Amino acid sequence: MLKLVSSSSKSKSSSVKSYSFPIRFPPLHNLLEHSDPHSVRVQPKVLYSCRHFINSAKTEFLDHNRNGFFSSGFPKIPSKIKELCWAGISFWRPPSLVGTIRSFSGESVCRDSLNYDVVIVGAGPAGLSAAIRLKQLCKEKDVDLSVCVVEKGAEVGAHILSGNVFEPRALNELLPKWKQEEAPIHVPVSSDKFWLLSKTRAFSLPSPFNNRGNYVISLSQLVRWLGQKAEELGVEIYPGFAASEILYDTNDKVIGIATNDMGVAKNGSKKDNFQPGVELKGRMTLLAEGCRGSLSEKIIKKYNLREKGQGQHQTYALGLKEVWEISADKHDAGAVLHTIGWPLDHKTYGGSFLYHMKDRQVAIGLVVALNYHNPFLSPYEEFQKFKQHPAIRPLLEGGTILEYGARTLNEGGYQSLPYPVFPGGAIIGCSAGFLNVPKIKGSHTAMKSGMLAAESVFGTLHEDSPLEAFWSSLRNSWVWKELHAARNYRPAFEYGLFPGLALSAIEHYVMKGNSPWTLKHGKPDHEATEEARLWTPIDYPKPDGAVSFDITTSLYRSNTNHDHDQPAHLRLRDTKVPELVNLPAYAGPESRYCPARVYEYIADESGRLKLQINAQNCLHCKACDIKDPKQNIEWTVPEGGGGPGYTVM
Ligand SMILES: Cc1cc2nc3c(=O)[nH]c(=O)nc-3n(C[C@H](O)[C@H](O)[C@H](O)COP(=O)(O)OP(=O)(O)OC[C@H]3O[C@@H](n4cnc5c(N)ncnc54)[C@H](O)[C@@H]3O)c2cc1C
Ligand code: SF4
Repeated sequence: MLKLVSSSSKSKSSSVKSYSFPIRFPPLHNLLEHSDPHSVRVQPKVLYSCRHFINSAKTEFLDHNRNGFFSSGFPKIPSKIKELCWAGISFWRPPSLVGTIRSFSGESVCRDSLNYDVVIVGAGPAGLSAAIRLKQLCKEKDVDLSVCVVEKGAEVGAHILSGNVFEPRALNELLPKWKQEEAPIHVPVSSDKFWLLSKTRAFSLPSPFNNRGNYVISLSQLVRWLGQKAEELGVEIYPGFAASEILYDTNDKVIGIATNDMGVAKNGSKKDNFQPGVELKGRMTLLAEGCRGSLSEKIIKKYNLREKGQGQHQTYALGLKEVWEISADKHDAGAVLHTIGWPLDHKTYGGSFLYHMKDRQVAIGLVVALNYHNPFLSPYEEFQKFKQHPAIRPLLEGGTILEYGARTLNEGGYQSLPYPVFPGGAIIGCSAGFLNVPKIKGSHTAMKSGMLAAESVFGTLHEDSPLEAFWSSLRNSWVWKELHAARNYRPAFEYGLFPGLALSAIEHYVMKGNSPWTLKHGKPDHEATEEARLWTPIDYPKPDGAVSFDITTSLYRSNTNHDHDQPAHLRLRDTKVPELVNLPAYAGPESRYCPARVYEYIADESGRLKLQINAQNCLHCKACDIKDPKQNIEWTVPEGGGGPGYTVM
């Protein structure tokens, strides 16, 4: 028996994804690196070839069993293909496997097509909860629906970055026996502090977070566990595959997604390892891409979902995070601290978090709202500065950083929710924006939105009820109540730090979320950036190499990696805008807001500054897609398997 275990080239932990074959694959065997007698680790690209083969087998199996008894889980490989594989012939595909023929550099390319009942994009809390709930309903009602999840990270959890203080409400509903089933949730919150920082002092304020009953966790690890649970129920998960295209039928209804081609060179030509993308067709498609999902944003625009939901524009923040291992005498498992104020100026909304995890680990981070005005501000440098505060630095001194990363989060809340249903599917989790800002929590609401969507999808596929039921079930759920009660906190800070604190205290302690008004958000984040002439450059301190570090050093800790020779996944809508607008008017803000120094202005031979894009450093945080003053940068998915390799984030 051969077990293929997906793993990224750099990540330390093996993935939950495994395929078991009752046969050996002589052609693949040479490419695999043995780690134990029963399992082998495979580079994502090698795995792609295996999956390509497996997909063909699965389609054949599905085609044969579509109207019969198909029960999800890995199907038996048809004997004909087995034989061919033994013989070392790549594989034989019956004509029914052919999806579409496309033209690629003037050549015809055939793209395989796989049919599922439900296709889910993104193996985060939202996508996996939806997948699990669907399979639970199938079991309860003795119905069989095939469900697959595509994930662009090399493994499930590799792209998940969160705080995370976890509220287990949705998990209690989804998998009530999570404790017995050894979910990686071990550290209950033991204390909950809230400080207002000045440059040298910390003032204690009453904590509005109410974290009793919550847990300090790594969301990346919880998501890996959710992936295992989903697979045990028969969900098929494809890590290392990026959904790059939405598929429509002739009536403009969504009928699935296509993954991007692999093995395409920077100049667009085919490389030796070229593999065409795969079409994953679903009777229903759920988009669970997280904050600023690239396909979700397209769908929101195409179907005018924000207007339909009467939502305002979405607002965002960028979160930067490190996980440290500190000395045992300073560690206090379950201790939770949030701060506001320094180092951010009073007009910039944001704050820090510091959570003591298990095993002497501490999660520390800074969240900076992306509607900041000063183009010279660098969220990365603000984070490095924050760690120098006299109330923070002693905790980290002598410790070791394990990981670094960054990710945006939604802050629009209730006011910015789009109508989440579109013809053929729905948007769930942070792709829609269900994060509760004053709590800084979105995992529980993402999970619940996925579960509710799953119930509506099941109703549509099994009982012919309309998918629009998702919208009404959301409005009747605790997610809606939470977001409604929290709606005025974030916009209150449009007036600055102290008015914001006063207004939000009134909301929290006096009105308790029942005020008769709803405050509006200010300008969209990209419009909030002001011209450089109105500001003076910020002189950030040099990193000390003890608690603060340069970006290159930090990037190494993110495990991020992309094949250099692939088409640019960061696209400039107009290549002239950086030199003609961003640099002269805004002093090139992309070189500062990007937490991975992907954007650099470098002098050419004539001394003229030109934008250089180091796309291989990208952390998939999506800040550039949001903050570019002219909305000139489009973030698209790179080859599947590229990007960060988080393990404890
Ligand atoms: C700094 C920070 C601190 C936070 N702190 C907390 C906290 O303490 N508590 C809390 O509850 N919440 C917290 N959150 C919010 C929480 O992380 C999110 O609400 C939650 O992760 C959203 O889940 P999701 O499934 O919607 O999206 P995500 O967790 O973002 O997952 C989306 C998944 O989809 C994949 N994907 C995206 N696009 C594609 C594509 N096209 N093809 C294939 N795969 C794709 C991604 O790689 C990812 O794995 C925090 C967030 C941040 C950034
Ligand atoms: S290039 Fe964009 S998405 Fe990538 S790390 Fe920089 S800001 Fe984030």
